[in-house]
Amino acid sequence: MPVECHASATPPRPILSEDFPAVEEHLTAGDFLAWRQDLMRWGGEPGALDWLLDAAAGITPARLSGMLLHPATVVHLRCSRQQIADLWRQHVRDSVPLQYLVGHCFWRDFVLEVGPDVLIPRPETETMVDLALDLMRDEESLASDALLWADLGTGSGCLALGLARAFPGSHGLAVDLSPAALGQAQRNLARAGLHNCVRVIQGNWFAAVKSWWGVLPLVVANPPYIPSGVVDHLDPVVRDHEPRLALDGGGDGLACIRSIAMEAPRALAAGGWLLLEHHHDQSQAVMDLLAHQGLVDLQSHFDLEGQRRFVCGRLSPSAPSLPSRSRS
Ligand code: GLN
Repeated sequence: MPVECHASATPPRPILSEDFPAVEEHLTAGDFLAWRQDLMRWGGEPGALDWLLDAAAGITPARLSGMLLHPATVVHLRCSRQQIADLWRQHVRDSVPLQYLVGHCFWRDFVLEVGPDVLIPRPETETMVDLALDLMRDEESLASDALLWADLGTGSGCLALGLARAFPGSHGLAVDLSPAALGQAQRNLARAGLHNCVRVIQGNWFAAVKSWWGVLPLVVANPPYIPSGVVDHLDPVVRDHEPRLALDGGGDGLACIRSIAMEAPRALAAGGWLLLEHHHDQSQAVMDLLAHQGLVDLQSHFDLEGQRRFVCGRLSPSAPSLPSRSRS
C-alpha cells in the first residue's frame, strides 16, 4: 500500500491565512470585467477563474452578472487584483489547485480548510452523507441518538463533518494514517463546532478503531482507489499536488478497499452498514469483495454524474458474535 505523502514543492500561502495581508480594492464593474478578460487570456478554465474571484475576492456569479448590466457601478474586492493575479498565475503556470491557494473549499454546507496534506473534497462524495442518512433511516435499532459511526481515511474531515451534522447526538471516529491530515480534520471540526462529538484517531483503516470492533453500526470510507498506473496520468493539478496517499489504490486500485472489506465482518456491529466510495469501474469488484466477506443486502449507487460510485453492504442482523469480535 502506498504510504508516501506527495506535497507541493513550494507550499502556497493560503489567502485566508491570518498572515496573508489582503488589500481591498474598489473599481468600476467595467474595469473589473476588462481585467477579468485579460486574466482569461493567460489560459486556464473560465469557470476556475470565476471560482477564484468568488472564493478570494467575494465576487459571486450573481455579482458578475450584475456587473454586465451595470458597468459603471463601483465594486468592492476583498483583495487586490494584483493578489488575485498572483494566485491565478500559480494555478495556470504550475497547476496548483486553486483550493490550496485560497486555503479553503466549499463542500455541502461547509467551508473547509484544505492544504496539500489532504485531498480536496469532491462533489460526488457529498452524496455519501445522504446515502448514510437513508441507510440509518430504515434502521431504528441502529440509529438511536447515541449512534456511533466511523469514517476511515477522513482526510480533510469532510465526511466526518457531514455525518456529525446529519446525525445530531451521534458520536464519530475519524481515522487517518496521516497526522497532518488529522490536524486539518480537527481544525475543520473545531471551526464547525463539531469537535466534541468526533474523535480523531491516527491509524490504518479498521485497525485504528479496534476498541470499537463489534459495536459499529455505520462505517464509511472514501479510500484511495485509483489504480497506480492511472494516477501517473491524471491531470497535473491532481497528480502533482494532491497527496498520492489519498489517491493511489495500488495496482488494481482495490488494495485499501480489500483491507477494509476483510476486517468488516469482525468490526461491524450485527446489522451494521459499510458504505464505500470507489472508482467508476469498480462497482462489481467491490460488491464481490463485500459478498466474499459475507456481507448482505449489497447495494450499488450512482453519483451525480450518473457513474456507479458507491457500494454498501451490511453484516447480517443475525450474525453470531465472532470470538475475534471481542474488544481488544
Ligand atoms: N474521486 C477522486 C478523484 O477522482 C479520488 C478519490 C479517491 O481516490 N478516494 O480524484
